[in-house]
Amino acid sequence: MVIDVRKCLKQGKFCDDFSFVFEPTADMIEIPYVEFNGAVDVKGKFHILEDDSLEVEGEIAYRLKGLCSRCLNETQTTVKYTFHEYFVVEDNEEDYLQRGGLADLTEVVKDAVLLSMPASLLCEDGCEMIAYHS
Ligand SMILES: [Zn+2]
Repeated sequence: MVIDVRKCLKQGKFCDDFSFVFEPTADMIEIPYVEFNGAVDVKGKFHILEDDSLEVEGEIAYRLKGLCSRCLNETQTTVKYTFHEYFVVEDNEEDYLQRGGLADLTEVVKDAVLLSMPASLLCEDGCEMIAYHS
């Protein structure tokens, strides 16, 4: 989803809610035998600040399914993660950058998915480690 900051300014719309879904790609997961179960749900709100930068805050939620990294049984989990970011007009090498007055929230969502990605998928109820015999 892209927010047209210039258009919002013209319309005098300085804040609003948003929600959309983001279709993740398999290469965003590094856990073996695990895949996304559906899309990433994104919801939040934005504010346009006095210097025309855009403040966005919200939450992403997605499901992972696959084999438990410990016992290899089928399992799934829901990951939730909150974000609070800024899209600035002048690049400061820290925040996201508006391009032509547009703020592409997909960049924030991609980063939030990568930051929230667990290192492994484990059964929700816990499980025993497989005993390997040498
Ligand atoms: Zn398990």
